[in-house]
Amino acid sequence: MAFSEIIGQENAIKILQRALRHQRVPQAYLFAGDDGVGKKLTALTLAKALNCKELQDDACERCGSCHKINIASHPDVRLIEPDGQFIKIDQIRDMQKDAGLKPFEGRRKVYIIDQADTMRAEAANALLKTLEEPTADCVIILVTANVYALLPTVLSRCQFVRFTALGVDKLAELLQKRLRLMPERARLIASLSEGCPGRALGMDADSLLKQRDEMERLLQAISGGLQDVRVIFTQVERLTDTKDDKKDAIHDFLDLLLVWYRDMLLLHEGGDPRLVANSDAIPRLKPLADALTAAQLRRLFETVYQTKQDILRNANLQLALEVMLISLTEVYNDRNRWREVSANRQSV
Ligand SMILES: [Zn+2]
Repeated sequence: MAFSEIIGQENAIKILQRALRHQRVPQAYLFAGDDGVGKKLTALTLAKALNCKELQDDACERCGSCHKINIASHPDVRLIEPDGQFIKIDQIRDMQKDAGLKPFEGRRKVYIIDQADTMRAEAANALLKTLEEPTADCVIILVTANVYALLPTVLSRCQFVRFTALGVDKLAELLQKRLRLMPERARLIASLSEGCPGRALGMDADSLLKQRDEMERLLQAISGGLQDVRVIFTQVERLTDTKDDKKDAIHDFLDLLLVWYRDMLLLHEGGDPRLVANSDAIPRLKPLADALTAAQLRRLFETVYQTKQDILRNANLQLALEVMLISLTEVYNDRNRWREVSANRQSV
């Protein structure tokens, strides 16, 4: 992908292209920003531009060099990724050995260290040596979503380039254009991916909507004043029983639920309907939101939010979900009880 095709990182790309045009590309870059914003993609494009046979400040995507980098077979461009959980010292040592050699066929050797924050101390210290004694032929690009986990001595030797999330509006617009998605679907996906194109492109609109239908059915069941708790246990069993990646499926479900309650709060408080992620569902959301108080809506939202945090901290999945659904049911029950009381009063 050429620089011109990368979505939403105009600032970062401007910095890189200026350096390319003036032939002042530093020995080391640090690309920082959330997962899925396009850091690795931009790093690969920079590697192509540094070695492109036709262009000086971009990847032509036609020449032999660009092609080889695209299929990961260019001898002078290496992607270093965690081997298991960490980037190990041997991987950095291999890189150092290679960096001492002249480029094999390109102009510059490029090393992209993805998830650089997973380097253990000894690997980071080894890298530091390379950064302290740079060779003119090589460029090292550290890529991370977690700058604060890197050694300050490493940070200070890299030129910092910040990558930012695109924002829901802009991403939704782009998804509509590029993927020809319907506006409301584009908006839902943009919201769920928190404005990160990489994440958005990995989502499937149809299966998301199917999941949302299921979530609505479950909410209907628990909001009607649940008589039988077994409904909850059956539902939890279904959620934790997905075959491929249990944890991912549950995170998707919790994100959908969070955005759903967020939308209800927004509508309840008279916020701008254009900010509603589930914009196609506004006619259903609005009466649901009006039937609850702001405090109750906040409790619903916070309950889901807390559950997500607990699961990130490795709480037991099944237990966390059961507790969450019971807590949500309690909020609805409070409301139902209050309604009965006020209905009785009126009839007296
Ligand atoms: Zn090229």
